[in-house]
Amino acid sequence: MPSNQSMMTETRKIEGIGPQKIVEVQNLKKYFYLKNGAILTAVDDLSFEIGCGETLGLVGESGCGKTTCGRTVIGLYQATAGEVRFNGKNIFTLAKNEKQDFTKKAQIIFQDPYASLDPRMTVADIISEGLDIHKMYSLKERYEKVHELLALVGLNKEHANRFPHEFSGGQRQRIGIARALAIEPQFIVCDEPISALDVSIQAQIINLLIKLQRDLKLTYLFIAHDLSMVRHISDRVGVMYLGSMVEIGQSDELYNNPQHPYTKALLSAIPIPDPEIEKNRKRIELEGEVPSPINPKPGCRFKGRCRYAKPLCEQERPQLKQVTLDHFVACHLY
Ligand code: SF4
Repeated sequence: MPSNQSMMTETRKIEGIGPQKIVEVQNLKKYFYLKNGAILTAVDDLSFEIGCGETLGLVGESGCGKTTCGRTVIGLYQATAGEVRFNGKNIFTLAKNEKQDFTKKAQIIFQDPYASLDPRMTVADIISEGLDIHKMYSLKERYEKVHELLALVGLNKEHANRFPHEFSGGQRQRIGIARALAIEPQFIVCDEPISALDVSIQAQIINLLIKLQRDLKLTYLFIAHDLSMVRHISDRVGVMYLGSMVEIGQSDELYNNPQHPYTKALLSAIPIPDPEIEKNRKRIELEGEVPSPINPKPGCRFKGRCRYAKPLCEQERPQLKQVTLDHFVACHLY
């Protein structure tokens, strides 16, 4: 089977990213209060920014809080504490008309193209849901817009009156992308948009997202657990572990010069296409599972799986520290 990397054709270009920040996340917390009184700390004190036209990749094992982070950033969840600023305004304190404007400018593409499309709706109705809510077009214009969006994502207008079950997984994800693009957003949270797809289809969807970003000047928060795929689409990558950002930096810098023991272990698991290098490569085995985010203990969240843990790691939670230009790590080794 070809590797994800060898199938890539589009390359990510950073040109066009301005200094202007479109998303600013500050000390974001999202806790879920369980019936037995326990607290699930899905996102715990997360801070990052995304520049206009940039893609920030967010990676980590299942249960690390990356999806909750994406949904909170887009306003689908109310934050427990902290701020998400979109174009300078805190999305949790917007007035009604500002909130409506925000929902037009910020959209989400969901992970599962099978579950995220209503099987009783036609493709045209699915894509134009947002247009209808925001009363953006007349009936004639609505159909023209749907046809335009279908073409944009590599489908055609004959697909408009069909139902989701008539499409493959990759085509359904294209429909999901067309739906997200319908109201001409500036920012899209891509919540594991390729995880449920075959490897051959994953590359096509990534290439489509890269092309759309270039053509429409979009900004992405791209959430995934496949690190090799994330590198191709991301300008910067953030690594999450148990609700916290443990490392964040420019893609190439982070992949070539990882600092956090967790990032090193994740990267060591990516297969290398060269058989000679692959044969001699040493994989860092992570012992144990990701611990529960319910009532976490003090100190570094990674301490139970870290071979370098020292007494300080038991007591004090490390904060992000700058290691090189635009490269930060949260670990007491630095
Ligand atoms: Fe390991 Fe300590 Fe660094 Fe955590 S802070 S990753 S336990 S060395």
